[in-house]
Amino acid sequence: MSKQKRFILAEDELPRQWYNIQADMENKPMPLLNPATREPVSVDDLSHIFATECARQELDMEHAWIDIPEEVQNRYRFYRSTPLVRAYALEEALGTPAHIYFKNESVNPLGSHKLNSAIPQCFYCHEEGVKNVTTETGAGQWGAALSYAAKTFGLECAVYQVKISMQQKPYRSSIMRTFGATVTGSPSMSTRAGKDIITADPNHPGSLGTAISEALELATTTPNCKYTLGSVMSHVSLHQTVIGLEAEKQMAMAGEYPDTVIACFGGGSNFSGLAFPFMRHQLKGQSDKGQSTKQIDFIAAEPASCPKLTKGKFEYDFGDSAGYTPLLPMFTLGHDFKPANIHAGGLRYHGAGVIVSQLLKDGFMRGMDIPQLESFDAGLLFARTEGIIPAPESCHAIAATIREAKRCKETGEEKVILFNLSGHGLIDMTAYDSFLNGDLVNPGWKE
Ligand SMILES: *Cc1c(COP(=O)(O)O)cnc(C)c1O
Repeated sequence: MSKQKRFILAEDELPRQWYNIQADMENKPMPLLNPATREPVSVDDLSHIFATECARQELDMEHAWIDIPEEVQNRYRFYRSTPLVRAYALEEALGTPAHIYFKNESVNPLGSHKLNSAIPQCFYCHEEGVKNVTTETGAGQWGAALSYAAKTFGLECAVYQVKISMQQKPYRSSIMRTFGATVTGSPSMSTRAGKDIITADPNHPGSLGTAISEALELATTTPNCKYTLGSVMSHVSLHQTVIGLEAEKQMAMAGEYPDTVIACFGGGSNFSGLAFPFMRHQLKGQSDKGQSTKQIDFIAAEPASCPKLTKGKFEYDFGDSAGYTPLLPMFTLGHDFKPANIHAGGLRYHGAGVIVSQLLKDGFMRGMDIPQLESFDAGLLFARTEGIIPAPESCHAIAATIREAKRCKETGEEKVILFNLSGHGLIDMTAYDSFLNGDLVNPGWKE
């Protein structure tokens, strides 16, 4: 077995195509519906909101492989491949026989996996002659990634940031503004949706749902402006598959194949990105080389205070608070669910992407609920062993990994666990301070 710690791909080994899992699914995701007519939405409907190419990708059930435009590949080369790392020090601290690997998506200038989709979304907008993009952001990783990507393609960028996250992580707004974006706290008085929310609840802390409503309203009322989304939508998951496609090659370099694949779960993009390329072998029941494949246990780690995968209902629901989005067939806690003010802002979302929802329903994966304090305990151990301070969101994946590694210690199983380190926590130090000071709690999910 290799003792090598980090595995990196050469530039000519980077993926040239994204993997579209919808093409390989026997049970396709149910259609997105227009809320007024209850008819399935078309590419044309979606392209009023999103770049047309993204709308096409969203509804593409046919092509398993979609070419990554040359220009996007060039920009991926600024920071990809990201390293696959064997967490020897964490394994040792846990005394586990498990082999723990993580894909380090925190090592790009913006500090999270979000850049993988910000680049193509801005590229397509630019190609289609769009001049302005809007979006929502929770903790600010998506807003930061989009602000940077927009700037490099000459687009103006307006971001609605969840109000509570803006207060918890003030430097993320500074980053977005440094890249030239306009940042507004949500709910705000600058849109009708925001005014309605504030009128009903003057102390509303904001949520991804409120910020999406505001960004969508701005996009649909501004000429030559498109909306972009950092998670949930199927085209975002598609762009994120570069993570798993690289990881597959890197695991082969390490001479291993995962038994367990883990990622934290907000709307599903980093989970999908790591998991789908591995899951494709399971969907077909055979690997591409013709051997039957080892069954992988896919685990999506969500906050115990926002447990849509384990406690949500599978039903048609809106993606935002105001009900501007199409109706999505998904696991949801309800679009008016107000998540507790946990520090993992990126996981405070009421629903789950439609692909992941279908896969969960069909038993290809499972959700795991992680209380806030357990997530920070895990983050601290990871920081003290591997030397990387993880984003509060990523701490959920680490906590799930530690649970599995401890189980291996009890059973003596030498499992191979692969998790996604979706981002670093260097701009989340107020969260770590609160934890270290003993000020954090484990909020429930029902008040
Ligand atoms: C946004 C974000 C998440 C959650 O979003 P997903 O779409 O579920 O991946 C997780 N980790 C980090 C670092 C994020 O920025």
